[in-house]
Amino acid sequence: MKSIPKKLISEIKKHLSDSGKIIVLTHKNPDGDAIGSMLGFYHYLRNNKYEVTAITPDEYPEFLQWMPGSSDIIRFSKDKKRGIKAIKEADIIFNLDFNTSDRLGGMESYVLSSTSIKILIDHHPSPSDFSDYIISETTASSTAELIFLFIKALDGKSHWTKQIAECLFTGIMTDTGCFSYNSSAGDTYRIVAELLDTGINKDDIFSKVYNNFSDNRMRLIGHVLNKKMVVNQDYKTAYISLTRKELKEYKFTFGDSEGFVNYPLSIKGIIFSALFIEKNKFIKVSFRSKGNFPANIFSEKHFNGGGHLNAAGGESYESLSAAISKFTSLLPRYSKYLKG
Ligand code: 5GP
Ligand code: MN
Repeated sequence: MKSIPKKLISEIKKHLSDSGKIIVLTHKNPDGDAIGSMLGFYHYLRNNKYEVTAITPDEYPEFLQWMPGSSDIIRFSKDKKRGIKAIKEADIIFNLDFNTSDRLGGMESYVLSSTSIKILIDHHPSPSDFSDYIISETTASSTAELIFLFIKALDGKSHWTKQIAECLFTGIMTDTGCFSYNSSAGDTYRIVAELLDTGINKDDIFSKVYNNFSDNRMRLIGHVLNKKMVVNQDYKTAYISLTRKELKEYKFTFGDSEGFVNYPLSIKGIIFSALFIEKNKFIKVSFRSKGNFPANIFSEKHFNGGGHLNAAGGESYESLSAAISKFTSLLPRYSKYLKG
């Protein structure tokens, strides 16, 4: 199993023992790994009597709100005053599941100007330099997997409670698409085995995350696949777009579009997929790819974003149609990956 350098662990342990207030936080639009790794670590720290506060930049989907500790989380966008106070008072801030500080959204300036010790734990490539300590491992399936290893390294005993295990399992399950990608390492399953040994109910967790949608969402999937998916076999690419009007028509709520961007990749021959969603002030874009097509570089260069090789996201500040035109006109530049 991978391990975190002993020297790093002993330095962090020292900071932990000297500190009063600890913050665990994660990126905006938090996904299952963001919330799972943050809350898993939150429970560990609380169980060990640390004073810990969990903060997200903004709200997250209902299908993640069942997680133990969810109601303790400060949503910075809703409760800015409390968030700022907690950040100002923190002795240590753990930055979890993101590699650049702009992923903190409205919290960024407060975190950057905080005098606390900052510790990054993440699995995205090329973390930028905004933390005092960096635990970055791109081969890990998820940040939750790294939190597992981190807790184990901090605390040789590894007394996994069900609460920690439920959160970390959710992080690993969601970031691997239920073990369909980023999940070819034996280590991932050895970790999952230890988590399952705590007695958590895997099937129940699966159901809470994936079988928890409204009928409107199912109808929206039908609409999207039938009417809104554009397939360009020439460039092995497909994309889906959703206007504000459509979102309203299908009573779209937060999290309803989760997973849409993956559907086109199940079409034979398609290796690059995009999803454009018209938000109030910008277009949210998601990218997924297969093989060596660098979705993160594509997003970083053209759509103000980033992410992993095969899963990335970004934003466009043009109109929906302009963002789509830009996207399609860029494809020939990537012929090396998309043709032949
Ligand atoms: P999603 O498409 O599910 O929102 O995000 C897929 C991946 O891309 C995630 O790993 C996420 O961290 C990253 N990502 C999503 N949106 C952004 C963004 O706006 N900027 C950056 N740098 N990464 C993003
Ligand atoms: Mn992740």
